[in-house]
Amino acid sequence: MPYYEYICQDCGKPARLFFSFAEYETAQPACPHCAGQHLKRRIRRVAIAKSEDARMDSLLDDSALANLDEDDPQALGHFMRKMSQEMGEDMGDEFNEVVDRLEHGESPEAIEESLPDLGAGGDDFMM
Ligand SMILES: [Zn+2]
Repeated sequence: MPYYEYICQDCGKPARLFFSFAEYETAQPACPHCAGQHLKRRIRRVAIAKSEDARMDSLLDDSALANLDEDDPQALGHFMRKMSQEMGEDMGDEFNEVVDRLEHGESPEAIEESLPDLGAGGDDFMM
């Protein structure tokens, strides 16, 4: 079960809640400590895929990289999804959320802006 990390703005404690991405769309998360509903999502930085990455170079041929338009969020999202599938790794919920939003046409900049906590925490999702 994927989990999402929050900070409770009522009691200040971190909260880790479990629900699927589909549930996340409509979920009303509540703090497990104080039942407060003012939870602020914590997002660890997700590296937006760039073609320089050596691991990607080994997985994808040059034509795939050459065809990648970094100004096209949907193409970038598809590319990142394909890459994570080829790596056979679960890249984590944040990664999946970013990919999903890219595929819906949001720009990487807009996603970063809407996720002000991006960068807080570990680097689990750096590629
Ligand atoms: Zn709380």
